[in-house]
Amino acid sequence: MKPAPFAYAKAKSVEHAIELLARPDGEARLLAGGQSLMATLNMRLSAPKLLVDLNGVGALSGISVKDGQVIIGALTRHAEAERSADIARHAPLIARAMPHIGHVAIRNRGTLGGSIAFADPAAELPACLLALGGEVEIAGAKGKRVVKADDFFRGLFETALGPQDVLTAIRVPAATKDTRIGFAEFARRHGDYAMVGLAAGAKASGKNLADLRLAYFGVGATPVRARKAETALAEGRIDDAVKALASDLSPSDDVQATAATKTHLAGVLLRRIARQLMEARP
Ligand SMILES: Cc1cc2nc3c(=O)[nH]c(=O)nc-3n(C[C@H](O)[C@H](O)[C@H](O)COP(=O)(O)OP(=O)(O)OC[C@H]3O[C@@H](n4cnc5c(N)ncnc54)[C@H](O)[C@@H]3O)c2cc1C
Repeated sequence: MKPAPFAYAKAKSVEHAIELLARPDGEARLLAGGQSLMATLNMRLSAPKLLVDLNGVGALSGISVKDGQVIIGALTRHAEAERSADIARHAPLIARAMPHIGHVAIRNRGTLGGSIAFADPAAELPACLLALGGEVEIAGAKGKRVVKADDFFRGLFETALGPQDVLTAIRVPAATKDTRIGFAEFARRHGDYAMVGLAAGAKASGKNLADLRLAYFGVGATPVRARKAETALAEGRIDDAVKALASDLSPSDDVQATAATKTHLAGVLLRRIARQLMEARP
């Protein structure tokens, strides 16, 4: 399939991108890695009149660690994050999730900002951002703002981003020696979107876990926190945590699995993650 005709403009800066997005018909889209956007254009699921290419905006790329936070520029490629020593050390959950995202060719082009902005409910990074209690930096026509991950994902492919907004970076708290993380997913083949996945973050607190956040993906319209399971697991009650998933999650049947199978798999993942969460950081 071929996309519907569109015009193309290369943004020179974030401000320039915001100007280019300002069309009365709202029919402009940002182009980052193109790994999701081009597929939706080719299948004519979307037919914007203008593509605004962010790839020339160097200021949007890069990884830094500052004031206890890891800041990842929106245009940072998955492959760069996967190879980054800073991500491995300071954001180990993201490092663990990265090899599960598609395949090498996709990770070479795809960007972290694109993945968060696209907000596929079966994607790994939105769930990691939620599990880490991260934040999203946004620049728009009215200035800059920061939105917490808890408030960012609003519905199926729907986020806090407006039509004239550019996601400029994501931030997550830098890991400390008390940080505990867990990541696991079921996919039919490695690199496929997950049928069900779980990203988790917590702090060690004696024999228990504090600030536990369990973010499931592939089980709803957005990444979903399993709040009752969090309470039970933080107290070491693993069987109760697995039972609580029946009320925490309400997946739908889809082409990959029935809702009942997904809930069952979510419990299997929770038991795996529980073991990972008890492991101290090397
Ligand atoms: C075969 C295949 C398999 C894949 N498997 C997986 C997988 O297993 N897991 C997974 O998570 N992903 C997977 N992906 C998707 C991949 O991770 C994409 O790279 C990612 O979802 C989108 O990033 P992108 O940079 O390519 O964004 P693009 O495709 O360029 O853009 C996606 C959307 O986000 C918007 N956007 C992009 N950047 C910004 C920004 N800075 N501010 C505001 N809006 C922005 C665009 O306008 C567009 O609507 C797969 C893709 C393919 C083709």
